[in-house]
Amino acid sequence: QNFQNVALIIGVTGIVGNSLAEILPLQNTPGGPWKVYGVARRNLPPWNTNHPVHYIQCDISNPSDVALKLSPLTDVTHIFYVSWMSKPTEAQNCEVNGSMFRNVLNALIPNAPNLRHVSLQTGVKYYVGPFELFGKVKPNESPFTEDLPRVNAPNFYYTQEDILFEMAQKKRDLTWFINRPRVIFGFSPYSLMNLIGTLCVYATICKHEGVPLRFPGTKAAWECYSAASDANLIAEQHVWGAVDARARNEPFNVSNGDVFRWKHLWTVLAEKFGIEEYGFVEEEGEGSSLRLSELMKDKSGVWDEIVKKNNLQGTKLEDVGDWWFADIILGMEAVLDNMNKAKEHGFLGFRDSKKSFINWIEKTKAYKIVP
Ligand code: NDP
Repeated sequence: QNFQNVALIIGVTGIVGNSLAEILPLQNTPGGPWKVYGVARRNLPPWNTNHPVHYIQCDISNPSDVALKLSPLTDVTHIFYVSWMSKPTEAQNCEVNGSMFRNVLNALIPNAPNLRHVSLQTGVKYYVGPFELFGKVKPNESPFTEDLPRVNAPNFYYTQEDILFEMAQKKRDLTWFINRPRVIFGFSPYSLMNLIGTLCVYATICKHEGVPLRFPGTKAAWECYSAASDANLIAEQHVWGAVDARARNEPFNVSNGDVFRWKHLWTVLAEKFGIEEYGFVEEEGEGSSLRLSELMKDKSGVWDEIVKKNNLQGTKLEDVGDWWFADIILGMEAVLDNMNKAKEHGFLGFRDSKKSFINWIEKTKAYKIVP
């Protein structure tokens, strides 16, 4: 087959990597037909095997592994970078995630003569600072627009951006694109931050134990407007960034374009798992004191039982329950971003967040991660 473009997805089994792996090879995807390479460390998981992607197992934090496995990919035209590793401090995050990104670019730029575009995914923490400094540094005021200044604190997104700008300075024909999603609604049991998967696992455990599906968050998160970014929408925006000249060399927010309230989505979650008693229970004092990282800390045996009883994919609770992440997202009032820039530049994609929520719950069930 004659390919028009050749994509290299770094983090192909992750929450957006999965969507890119599904969308890029489709017949009608802009810029296609695409040949697609995909990189991650673990074995190709069963939910990724149907995508026509050349899978490469490589640890991009290891420069010699990268040189060995990625420098032979001389036909790559576009890199989609949707990966990260989590370290205890943001200083370490900057170091590790900066060198991972640099390793990939260093292997490709000198060896892939037709490489012309790098798409980098960061996120709205660009506007508020890293998790560890929430409440400690002065964030930008929302709604966030792309022209807001960096926060005065270390942030691996800034490190990655600076590496990208430096490379684009050196290689003048290289274009770049940065997108900044907020909490992602998507599917990947290999993701470090998969909110929907985590909530599905929580609901499954509640159902199994016959206890109410209590909302593990604050009253503000329960009552106020929230927003999300659908993983397929983000993938579509990455593709747009790769093929549309109006998107070149610019950062863009990417979110669904609507708002929702968790109290409404919670009803959907309860219905999907057949739980009749659910909701927000106000504790004495302010907000809710429920935290999933507390509530779920001794449940790995229960999860193993559930997996066995329902003949599910063999997952471990620590992989599919990102409790710390759910505690952050449901523990605060959401700050909103603004999608005008993408629209003004020609990207009109959107999602209905409730339908998106349902769609990813169904996918999580269809792949037998939860019953
Ligand atoms: P995920 O955690 O979902 O996926 C990461 C992918 O990278 C996996 O395929 C993983 O597979 C792979 N990977 C991790 N480390 C390595 C390594 N050393 N070598 C090779 N592959 C590796 O990623 P996200 O899409 O969540 O994250 C991408 C960016 O999006 C990050 O900057 C994140 O902060 C940002 N973001 C994410 C949000 C979310 O809700 N998830 C929200 C907003 C922003 P394996 O482990 O097998 O290697």
